[in-house]
Amino acid sequence: MNEVNEKCGVFGIFGKGLDVSRLAFYGLFALQHRGQESSGIATADGREIRSHKSMGLVNQAYSEEVIEKLTGHIAIGHNRYSTHLGTGLTHAQPRVIGQKLALAHNGNLPSVTVLLNFLQDNKVAIEGLNDSELMAEAVAYYMREGQNMPQAVKSAYPLFTGAFSLVIMSQNELVAVRDECGIRPLAMGKLNGGYVFASETCAFHTIGAEFLREVNPGEMVVVSDSGVVSEQIVPANPKLDIFEFVYFARPDSELMGKSVYEVRRRCGVRLAEERKINADIVVPVPETAIPVAVGYAAASGIPLEMALVKNRYIHRTFIQPEQHSRDLGVKLKLTPLPGVLRGKRVIVIDDSIVRGTTSCQLVQALYGAGASEVHFVVSSPPVRFPDFYGIDTPKQEALIAAMKTTEEIRDFFKATSLQYLSLKGLLDAVGLPPELLNTSCFTGDYPLDLRERFSEIHAPRVPLTEPLVCPWHAHE
Ligand code: AMP
Repeated sequence: MNEVNEKCGVFGIFGKGLDVSRLAFYGLFALQHRGQESSGIATADGREIRSHKSMGLVNQAYSEEVIEKLTGHIAIGHNRYSTHLGTGLTHAQPRVIGQKLALAHNGNLPSVTVLLNFLQDNKVAIEGLNDSELMAEAVAYYMREGQNMPQAVKSAYPLFTGAFSLVIMSQNELVAVRDECGIRPLAMGKLNGGYVFASETCAFHTIGAEFLREVNPGEMVVVSDSGVVSEQIVPANPKLDIFEFVYFARPDSELMGKSVYEVRRRCGVRLAEERKINADIVVPVPETAIPVAVGYAAASGIPLEMALVKNRYIHRTFIQPEQHSRDLGVKLKLTPLPGVLRGKRVIVIDDSIVRGTTSCQLVQALYGAGASEVHFVVSSPPVRFPDFYGIDTPKQEALIAAMKTTEEIRDFFKATSLQYLSLKGLLDAVGLPPELLNTSCFTGDYPLDLRERFSEIHAPRVPLTEPLVCPWHAHE
């Protein structure tokens, strides 16, 4: 049950007189990039909780009829992405427990031992439940004991050992709550007298809501008929996952006051400053690396070309996380333009190298389209440690940078050169004090205790001090 690493999007709304299910639908639509496997909405009208969940993309998951039936003035929604094959609808969220509550979770609890023991001791059935479902059971347990939903969330909070940005609703209250580190984002906004919560601020723009602030790490915000109340459940120890800036968030979102687009653009500027490459064109791997390439091209004076064309209709549900279909994945997703690439010294920019499969195929595709040199430039440092907090990365042995040096990776790709962004460069581009960020996938420094899962972390074969640029003078 710990195997399911989820990258998800959550949404919540409380507003008398608002068409909350439709607004949740549009909010989830804006958060589609955070999960494409399944989508769900639950609503409440003060008396009854209703819900609908379906596999697939947001615009496939709901019909007009479904949205109309989801009546009420409170709604929560969830988009799920899971690497786990065959999970299907069973684990789709929101998790609804009777008429007590509905819960939507973004994040991951690396260890659920504390939760499991608690539920077992209290005779709650736990068979086949994942971390999010166990959290919902714990809150429901305290509600059965007579607590109202916010009290129950507060009572269950110490059992949640890991990363969580949650929206939870009862028949008449909406709660938004984050772990003490706020590893996954959660923002709060206002709409026509109502309140909205979303994983990313990009959802507010879509529904016309005004962004107020982020839910603080360790904070619980409660919205009910009596208004909005906030409580700091535990002291905040902010550690937003830096990978949100690198890859995960949409460029039109703002995280801790920083525009994701601007951060990515600054990564490009910094990459150009950290190493000078003689090349003819800069080509981003769409979509994430586009702002990076914009910054790189501006700083280096090398023209930007969109020489990799992305199929707009490809979604990650389509690419199963098995190696053979991954291999086909790149061809389905990206097509190089020979007319632009032929005879050119190309700088190709991607946001990250995880397994190395995508990058390897890309380099071959660029040569195949006639590039004379392929310089692979990455807007993050080497990913040497697995993620436990809700971003899907594989086990450490499958992380190419944990196993191979920069030169070995370059050689494996057959790239002319390979350059990673330094951690200092990335932190400077983000522009926040480093102690406010979780950099565990680059440094192995995990801010939330992994408990028994620590045994899965090993010193990588490649030391962290290894040069971030391969000895490319040999290729000059
Ligand atoms: P690979 O090195 O083959 O594992 O793939 C790296 C590519 O996957 C890069 O283009 C990234 O944009 C993308 N990527 C990075 N992190 C993730 C993630 N957590 N889930 C899915 N794709 C990712």
